Amino acid sequence: MGSALDDAASALREQLAPLTQHAAAVEADRCLYCFDAPCTHACPTHIDIPRFIKKIASQNLRGSAETIFASNLLGATCARVCPVQELCEGACVLGSDHKPIAIGRLQRYAMDYAREHGSYPKVKAAPTGKKIAVIGAGPAGLSCAGELAKLGHAVTIFEKRAKPGGLSTYGIIALREPVEIALEEARMIEGMGVKIEGGVEIGKDLSLAELQKEFDSIVLSVGLGRTPGLDIEDEEAIVDGLEFIEGSKTDAASLKVGRNVIVIGAGNTAVDCATIAKRLGAERVTMVYRRTDREMTCYEHEYDFARKEGIEFRFLSQPSRVVLEGGRPTGLECRRVELGAPDASGRPTPVAVQGSEFVLAADQIVKAVGQEKPSLAMLLGLETTKGFIAVDGSFMTSVSGVYAIGDCIRARGAASTVMAVQDGKLAAAAIHAQLVLQATEKS
Ligand SMILES: Cc1cc2nc3c(=O)[nH]c(=O)nc-3n(C[C@H](O)[C@H](O)[C@H](O)COP(=O)(O)OP(=O)(O)OC[C@H]3O[C@@H](n4cnc5c(N)ncnc54)[C@H](O)[C@@H]3O)c2cc1C
Ligand code: SF4
Repeated sequence: MGSALDDAASALREQLAPLTQHAAAVEADRCLYCFDAPCTHACPTHIDIPRFIKKIASQNLRGSAETIFASNLLGATCARVCPVQELCEGACVLGSDHKPIAIGRLQRYAMDYAREHGSYPKVKAAPTGKKIAVIGAGPAGLSCAGELAKLGHAVTIFEKRAKPGGLSTYGIIALREPVEIALEEARMIEGMGVKIEGGVEIGKDLSLAELQKEFDSIVLSVGLGRTPGLDIEDEEAIVDGLEFIEGSKTDAASLKVGRNVIVIGAGNTAVDCATIAKRLGAERVTMVYRRTDREMTCYEHEYDFARKEGIEFRFLSQPSRVVLEGGRPTGLECRRVELGAPDASGRPTPVAVQGSEFVLAADQIVKAVGQEKPSLAMLLGLETTKGFIAVDGSFMTSVSGVYAIGDCIRARGAASTVMAVQDGKLAAAAIHAQLVLQATEKS
C-alpha cells in the first residue's frame, strides 16, 4: 500500500502524459502547415505554430523550441495551461471535419526537449546600462523580465513570496501544471541574466520611491489579491479556495479535505477546488452557484471535466449562512434565486427569494469566487479602472516610467497566463523604445 504522500501526489499527477517520439511525429505529420495559419492568429502570443510543428516533423527539436521561445518565453507553462480549445486548437482548420492538431501537446513536446537539453534562449545584445525593476515573478513579470534581458537591460525582479512563478507555482492545479515546471521556467529566466529577489514585498519592504531612485523604469506585474469575502454569517469557517489549491500544490498529503464538500463559485478556480477535493478523498463534492450553467464563467471543457469527475452542481442558490455545530461546519444555508434583468456584465441579476432558505449538508465549505483587485494600486496612488491599474497603449500607468501588466490591469474579459505573457512581451518592447528615445534626446 502507498503512503498518504504517494497517494496524494498520484491523485494530482499531471493529467496528460507526454507524447512519445512516434506519437509526436505522427501528429506533426497531420499538420497542413497552412499559409497565414489561423492557429497562429488565435494564439495571443502569435507563436509561428506551423513552423514549430514542421521542425518537430523533421526532428529539429532545438529549432522547434527556438521558434516557440521567439514569441513566448513561457512556452512550457502555456503548453500546459492554455485553454487551447478556445485558442489555437479551436481555430485549427482540421477541427471542422477531423480532430484539430494537438498543438498544446506538441508544444509541450518541444518544450520538454528544451528543458531536458538546456536548449534555452541566449542573450546576444550588448548591455545597455539601463536598470529595470519588475515587481512580481508571475508569468507577466517573468516574460517581461526575460524580453528586457534579451534587449540588453539589467533586470531585477522583486517577489514577495519565497518562490517565483506566481499563480503557475501557487495557483494552477498540479493536474495541469506541476510546480517544478513553473520553477524551472523561472530558473531559465535567471539564466538569461535576470536577478530574482524573493521575499521582498514592494510597499512594505521597499517603497516605490526607493525603486524610482535606483531604476530607470519600473514594471508592476503584481497580479490580483485574495478571495473576496461573501459577507455571510460565520464566514470564517469557510476555507479560502486559493489557499486550498496552494495547499494541494505545496503539501497535498497534509491538506485537510472533508467527506462532503461544498465549493461556492462556478469559475475555473471553483472547478479546480472541486477537483482537488474529489481527488483527495471527498465522497461528495457539490458546486453551489447563484446563476445557472448558462452563466457559469468556467470554460465549457472545464464544466464537462467536472461532471466526468463526478462533481455535482446546485444552481440558483445563494449562500446566506454557514451552519455550525460545536464550531465546525455541518451545512451551508442558501436562499433560492430567481434571475432578473441583466446587470453590468450582461448576465441576469440573481435575486434571492426571501423566506426560501434551505440547508445543504457539508463538513467543509470552500469559496472560490474570484480575486480581490490589486491593493498596491491604492497604496501607490495609481489611477485605476474598475479597481484594476489603468495603463495607456504602452502599458504606462498614471506615473511616468511606471508600467503595469498582467492580471492587475485586466479590467475586461477573462485573464489568462498567455495574455499575461503577451503583455510582458509588448511592455518590454514599449519600455525599450522609451529608453532608446530618452537616450537619443539626451545625446
Ligand atoms: C486557481 C487559478 C487557476 C488558474 N488556471 C489557469 C489556467 O489553467 N490557464 C490559464 O491560462 N490561466 C489560469 N489562471 C489565470 C492565470 O494564472 C493568471 O492569468 C496569470 O497567473 C497572471 O499572471 P500575473 O503575472 O499577472 O499574476 P500572478 O501569477 O498572480 O503573479 C503575480 C506575482 O506578483 C507577486 N506580488 C504581488 N504583490 C507584490 C508586491 N507588493 N511585491 C512583490 N511581489 C508581489 C505575487 O506574489 C505573484 O508572484 C488561473 C488563475 C487561478 C487563480
Ligand atoms: S491551422 Fe491546424 S493544420 Fe493549419 S497550420 Fe495550424 S495546426 Fe496546422
